[in-house]
Amino acid sequence: MFSFLAIFITALSLAESAYSCSHVGHPGAARRLYQEGLEIARMNNIRRGNQQTTSAAKSIAITNVRVFDGEKLLPLNSVYIAGGIIVPYAEGAEVVDGNGGVLLSGLIDAHTHPASVAHLEVFASNGVTTAIVASCFPATLCNSLLNHAGLPDVRFSGLFATTPNSTHALMFGLLPATQIITSASQAPGFVADQLASGATFIKVIAEAPDFATTLDQATTNALVTSAHANHLCVACHAADYAAVGRALTAHVNQAHHVPTDTPLDAALLARFVAQGTVSVPTLSIFATFLAIGQIDAAGYVAANTSVTRLRAAGVPVLAGTDSHDLPAPFAPPFGSSLHAELELLVQAGLSTVEALRSATVLAAQHNLLFDRGVVAPGMRADLLLISGDPIANISATRNIQRVWIAGVEYAGVATN
Ligand SMILES: [Zn+2]
Repeated sequence: MFSFLAIFITALSLAESAYSCSHVGHPGAARRLYQEGLEIARMNNIRRGNQQTTSAAKSIAITNVRVFDGEKLLPLNSVYIAGGIIVPYAEGAEVVDGNGGVLLSGLIDAHTHPASVAHLEVFASNGVTTAIVASCFPATLCNSLLNHAGLPDVRFSGLFATTPNSTHALMFGLLPATQIITSASQAPGFVADQLASGATFIKVIAEAPDFATTLDQATTNALVTSAHANHLCVACHAADYAAVGRALTAHVNQAHHVPTDTPLDAALLARFVAQGTVSVPTLSIFATFLAIGQIDAAGYVAANTSVTRLRAAGVPVLAGTDSHDLPAPFAPPFGSSLHAELELLVQAGLSTVEALRSATVLAAQHNLLFDRGVVAPGMRADLLLISGDPIANISATRNIQRVWIAGVEYAGVATN
């Protein structure tokens, strides 16, 4: 929904703020957080520098496991890892007994906002092996999350595109003038800036109902055109019915969040299908907002109904949480909330297999990460070993036994 900084600022006066994003941020707090962001980045980089001695991925044979192949559980078998990838066989591999458990491809959170290495550790402990960071700031901080051996792989969008007076911009209060979009002519420069900062996709904000202060259709279209010209996908924040329409008209690749005012209807769903647009509903953030009173029950019903209809229409749904660096109950927690998201998706009508796909193969494919998402030779050895049967009960994904990231086992898995 918001970036983690915005949520933090919003939480300072949560009592007055509404989910409609009417709250205006506190510039002083934002500037302090900007400095804190640079300091966190400095610590992240020191941490990465200290990891140089991390041992290379060993050859491992995970025996006695049932692999989820993207559709079903295969009969008991062994999976081999060598050099950080899954291989058909590895001579002399160290044997790890899977004890009849289920081996999943490592989970992908398709919308989250980690800031520190500590957050990556929590992801790892929960079997989340890839984090798609749907906007982060400043770029120094985004980049400090990359390439930590043995920890989740991070992809980020950089700063989101928005206008000077949009709710998102005001909540930040400190966006450099060069990164504020006031006309379609600035779109190529904005996209180039994000690309230069290391972004692998572009995040655009569609806010409603007050379109007068947010990106107009022409500018939104231009941002998508510029992104696509640079082979970057576009994820669009669209948390109400009108904003989803704007996102679809602009041909964004991914619509993030779902409406809490009016559920997606046949007209919008037909456009998702015709354009191949993907949805990342982030029911977890709406469950959080419901719990803390930022939306009412009807708002959550609208979100839930939208997911039910997306699924029925055949729109690809990806699991994302919008987890932030805020204590519970103000944000979904890192890692464990992805397991909660799978449960919420099942409650909204996805089958358990569809829910598992939403956090593995579909999340990989639609984020152009073709080296992961399925347990098969040649893929990254991002693996999650659980006990129980997640097809019979999606909550079994919480029964984490072991986690490997690029073939390196993560010590200290979560007990959920
Ligand atoms: Zn977000």
